[in-house]
Amino acid sequence: MAMIFQDPMTSLNPYLTVERQMTEVLEFHKGLDRASARAASVRMLDAVRIPEAARRIGMYPHEFSGGMRQRVMIAMALLCEPEVLIADEPTTALDVTVQAQMLALLRDLQRDFGTAIVLITHDLGVVAGLCDQVIVMYGGRVMEQGSAQQLFKSAAHPYTLGLLQAVPRLDRDDESLLAIPGAPPNMARLPKGCPFSERCRFADARCHDVLAPLQAMTGARHHLRACHREVAIVQAMPSLEASSG
Ligand code: SF4
Repeated sequence: MAMIFQDPMTSLNPYLTVERQMTEVLEFHKGLDRASARAASVRMLDAVRIPEAARRIGMYPHEFSGGMRQRVMIAMALLCEPEVLIADEPTTALDVTVQAQMLALLRDLQRDFGTAIVLITHDLGVVAGLCDQVIVMYGGRVMEQGSAQQLFKSAAHPYTLGLLQAVPRLDRDDESLLAIPGAPPNMARLPKGCPFSERCRFADARCHDVLAPLQAMTGARHHLRACHREVAIVQAMPSLEASSG
């Protein structure tokens, strides 16, 4: 298992060349000698499309652009062929063009190396573009879970609906964005019932007292949600569609 962190500048060691940071991983975990580790590192930099990898591997992190640094982080994470790659907001620190390149790269790597990617993100566009399965979390709990298709086409939890309605859409005449009122809960003092109850416009007395279990939706075994009020919510927002286009 390996992890890619949000900001590659603070995740790479500024005092060591990329070569030293990469070869160390292979020497430590796979017992390779320095020359073999260097060759494997260059191959991996090639795989994440760093131009002139054999030359650039000798450079320091500050000599790379933000997008290149993130590619180095991805290459480093893949060196030991992890079965699972955890990517924590991997594109947040990058501009939009580089973001798109990075997502395409992650998709290709997932296909070529067969690595499962756990993507942690607030960006629903990224989720729509990259993910097969989605778990929506709030207050440390799973609120809704299903395929990306299910979540974007028939979201059924008030928090998921709130997130989708806060995404700007080109196909909507109405330019106003709906914000979710209030602020995230204090994790040290979570509400007794549903963690979203203080911000949910569908909340009733039961929501404040009883935590809703995560359950399969009627007629959709793999679409789960944790909410007491199924019927009212679906009827209240019948026309919500994918924000991903
Ligand atoms: S359980 Fe109640 S408070 Fe929680 S999301 Fe559902 S309706 Fe809202």
